[in-house]
Amino acid sequence: MHSTNDIRRTFLDYFAANGHAVRPSAPLVPYNDPSLMFVNAGMVPFKNVFTGLETPPAPRATTSQKCVRAGGKHNDLDNVGYTARHLTLFEMLGNFSFGDYFKERAIELAWGLVTGEFGLDPERLLVTVYHTDDEAFDLWRKIAGLPDDRIIRIASKDNFWAMGSDGPCGPCSEIFWDHGPEIAGGPPGSPEEDGDRFVEIWNLVFMQHMQENDQIIGDLPRPSIDTGMGLERISTVLQGVHNVFDTDSFLELIQASEELTRTKAEGEQQASHRVIADHLRSTSFLIADGVLPSNEGRGYVLRRIMRRAMRHAHLLGAKEPLMHRLVPALVGEMGAAYPELPRAQALISEVLEREETRFRQTLDKGLRLLDEATDDMGEGARLPGETAFKLYDTYGFPYDLTVDALRPRGIEVDRAGFDEAMAQQKAAARAAWKGSGAAADQELWFDIAEREGSTEFTGYASTEGEGRV
Ligand code: ATP
Ligand code: MG
Ligand code: MG
Ligand code: MG
Repeated sequence: MHSTNDIRRTFLDYFAANGHAVRPSAPLVPYNDPSLMFVNAGMVPFKNVFTGLETPPAPRATTSQKCVRAGGKHNDLDNVGYTARHLTLFEMLGNFSFGDYFKERAIELAWGLVTGEFGLDPERLLVTVYHTDDEAFDLWRKIAGLPDDRIIRIASKDNFWAMGSDGPCGPCSEIFWDHGPEIAGGPPGSPEEDGDRFVEIWNLVFMQHMQENDQIIGDLPRPSIDTGMGLERISTVLQGVHNVFDTDSFLELIQASEELTRTKAEGEQQASHRVIADHLRSTSFLIADGVLPSNEGRGYVLRRIMRRAMRHAHLLGAKEPLMHRLVPALVGEMGAAYPELPRAQALISEVLEREETRFRQTLDKGLRLLDEATDDMGEGARLPGETAFKLYDTYGFPYDLTVDALRPRGIEVDRAGFDEAMAQQKAAARAAWKGSGAAADQELWFDIAEREGSTEFTGYASTEGEGRV
C-alpha cells in the first residue's frame, strides 16, 4: 500500500528528478499578505515571485504546502465530515515554473506522474479545460491520448484563475478521478457534479495573461505554471478507498478517538469522529504556527474550529476534555514531515485542554437551550436569529456550531436575524459609551469598528472576498 507519507515523498522526488528545487512548507499565517487569513494554496508563498516582486528561489520548485480553508474566500468548513473530499487542513502538493516551462511540459509532467509513477488507470481519469483554451484541449489529446468526451470544456470562473483584479491570471485545467458508478455524482460540468464520484485531484494553472481591473490587458512575456494536488485526495485514490477519512493517516486518528470515547466511527457517530480528526489537525497546526484562540480574526477562526470539534466530542459522550488527548496520535502520524508539530506539542495540548475545559462550562447549558428552542421544530424549520445570537453571546457558540448542530435534523438558522441581533448589540454598546460621556477617542473606536466591520465576523461571514483580519 502507498502510505500518505510515501505519496508525499514520491511527488517531491518526481519533481526533484525533473529539475525542481524542493522547498519546505511555509507557515499557515501568510507573511506576505495581510489580507489573507491563512495560506490556502501552494502558490501563496510564491505570490511575490509570480508578480515579479521577488526573485524566484529557482526556475522550478516543488512543495507540499499545508493549507487551511476555514475562513475567507475558500471556506470548506461546513463540508467537513459530510463530503468524502473536503478537509479544513490539507496538504497541497505543487510544482511551480517561474517563467520556465509552460503548458505542454506541465501537462506532460502531470500525466507522467499520475499514470506512470502512481500507475493510475487512464480510463478512469478525465480532465477539464477552460472553454476557450484550445491549446490545452489539443495538448491533452496529444500527450494523454484522451478522447474528446473526457476533455471537458468549462466556461465558469472555476476554470480561470486570477491572483486578484490586478495581476497574473490564466486558464486552469483540473484532473478528475472517477471513483466508480456505485458512488453518487456526475462528471464536472454536469448538474450532479457536486457528488463524490468524480473527484478533482489536481489543478493546473497556466498563468499566461496580465489583468487590470479584471480585464485582460496582455500576455505575460514569460508565462508560469502553478499546480496543486490534494495529498489526501490522491492518497484516497491510491489506497483504493473512496473517502479521505478512510486513508491511513486519518484511520490512526479515528482509531485514537474511538478508543478514548469507547465508541465506533459508524452510523450517527461517524461524522463526529471525522470532524474531530479533521479539526484536530487544523487546530494543532494553527497553534503550532502561532495562532491562539481569541474572539477576533484568525484566533476566532481557530476557536470556531475547536469548539465545533468539542461539541462533537460531547456528542460522543466524552465526559472529560478529549482533543488534547489525541495530540500524540497526530504527532506520531505527521510529526516527521512537520517538525513544528512535535516542537509545539506541549503548547498544543495545553491550549486545547484549556479551551475545552472552559467551553464545557457553557456547552451543556447552551445545548439545553437549543433543545428547548427546537423541541417542536421539524425538518425545514428555522431557528430564530435571536436564539442563535443568544447562544453565541451567552454560551460561546460560534454561529456555525449552531448550524452544524441543527444540520442532522434539517433545521436552518436565520442568518439575517443573527446579524441583526449582533448589530443591535453593537448599537446598544455604542449608546452606552455615549451615555457615560465616553471620551472622543472611544467614539472614534466605534466608528472604526463599524466602518471596518467587526473582526468577529471575519472568520465566517465573508464568503466572497477574503475575510479581513
Ligand atoms: P473542489 O472543487 O473539489 O472544492 P478546488 O477547485 O476548490 O477543489 P483548488 O483550489 O483547485 O481546489 O486546490 C487544488 C487541489 O487541492 C484540488 O484539486 C484538491 O485536490 C485539493 N483540495 C482543495 N480543497 C480541498 C479541501 N478542502 N480538502 C482537501 N483537498 C482539497
Ligand atoms: Mg473548493
Ligand atoms: Mg474545483
Ligand atoms: Mg480546482
